[in-house]
Amino acid sequence: MEETVYDLIVVGGGAAGLMAAGWAARDGKKVLLIEKMEKTARKVNITGKGRCNLTNLCGLEEFLEKVRSGPTGVEGKEFVTPALKTFTTNALCHFFKKQGVKLEEEAGRRIFPKGGKAYEISDALRWWCSDNDVVVMLNTEVKEILTAGSRVYGVTYINKRGFRRKAEGRAVLLATGGASYPATGSTGDGYTMAHGVGHSIVPIRPSLVALKSSHPKMAELNGLRLKNIRAELLVDDETVSSEFGEIEFSARGVDGPVILRLSRAAVDALIAKRKVDVVLDLKPALTEEIIRARISREMEELDKQAFAIDLLRKMLPRGLVYFVAGAAEINPKAWVSRLSEEEIGRIISAMKRVVLPIVGYGPWEQAIVTAGGVSLDEVDPETMQSRLIKGLYFAGEVLDLDADTGGYNLQMAFSTGRLASQLKL
Ligand SMILES: Cc1cc2nc3c(=O)[nH]c(=O)nc-3n(C[C@H](O)[C@H](O)[C@H](O)COP(=O)(O)OP(=O)(O)OC[C@H]3O[C@@H](n4cnc5c(N)ncnc54)[C@H](O)[C@@H]3O)c2cc1C
Repeated sequence: MEETVYDLIVVGGGAAGLMAAGWAARDGKKVLLIEKMEKTARKVNITGKGRCNLTNLCGLEEFLEKVRSGPTGVEGKEFVTPALKTFTTNALCHFFKKQGVKLEEEAGRRIFPKGGKAYEISDALRWWCSDNDVVVMLNTEVKEILTAGSRVYGVTYINKRGFRRKAEGRAVLLATGGASYPATGSTGDGYTMAHGVGHSIVPIRPSLVALKSSHPKMAELNGLRLKNIRAELLVDDETVSSEFGEIEFSARGVDGPVILRLSRAAVDALIAKRKVDVVLDLKPALTEEIIRARISREMEELDKQAFAIDLLRKMLPRGLVYFVAGAAEINPKAWVSRLSEEEIGRIISAMKRVVLPIVGYGPWEQAIVTAGGVSLDEVDPETMQSRLIKGLYFAGEVLDLDADTGGYNLQMAFSTGRLASQLKL
């Protein structure tokens, strides 16, 4: 029996792969999509805490500010611009609306499916492929990209019965995602395969990940969630970035949107064995003078027999009261009327400057994205085609591209997938 030669073999049925496969098939190409899990788009289903923040409608310039890449010649923002212009954030919204998914905008210009069901997005992507007659092989793991000279001609895979087989294609799109949340199927296979055909891989690191602190009182804050906190990231005692928003504490460290945004630089600094601290301002809206005036007012109103802890209770969420008293080295049972100016100064410092020494970060299982990947220098940003192997394309997180939280990572996966789908054979 003659073997089918596909126009395009898409490796990986995630956000980028499904988007690309459907478009290429719609343009008349014979497309095979190979996915190693029993279902496609498993990661999409857990994005945005099951609600899927699929994009962000901030302008292109602001979008590009959130994009990161490794230390190669080409910058991520420069690299991804043609893809974002080919398939814009508005075009993505239009695409899903046409697939019957209602969308809504939330704070920070983030877009979610209305009703907050991420599976509506993954279902729409699956339908997009089946409506356009993409051949989908599930439970099938691609092992190797086949090349003859500097031209791709297919892949080898292990099928669901455990047999090694070959599929031939005139082009191959590697859309295997990153190495984070490996239970979704993204186990970093793409890096090995790309490396196998000569591509350089910028070392991969977990990003958008919780940070571990050696602060001796971390356990006291376990489970606490605070809004409106300013967090600064210090590397070797110098501030490198600062974020404002929500933070979550665990017995071992800190998490939440603010920390995730600081995590990329923190992880890189830790890998480089530099000193890393996160400094929290628990009262960022108030200057020290205003806090001092507030303390004086509260002290006047409090009974002379009240304790220092009663004063702190009036000013802080419950979970922080003893922590701040400890940091200020105040006896919680000291009479408030007897607090010295110096002790009040220490209370203010303890509120304005909580120093958390950072000693580690969460594992791959908990990282939202992968920093690092296929070096951008070796991929043409206008087409997503490899500069080394003709007919080999890349899209999504397998590339050395990542971004902050807010819908940017999925949009980059969709846009690079869409651009790759326009391949000329
Ligand atoms: C918990 C969590 C929440 C997130 N929330 C958001 C969010 O709200 N907004 C946002 O923009 N981004 C979010 N992200 C990031 C976003 O999900 C990813 O950036 C995006 O899914 C990357 O798309 P991709 O297609 O490149 O890879 P993936 O979606 O990871 O897809 C890769 C696919 O390739 C398959 N595969 C891998 N190796 C092989 C192989 N050898 N053979 C065959 N198939 C293979 C995998 O099984 C997988 O299905 C979140 C990530 C996580 C983990």
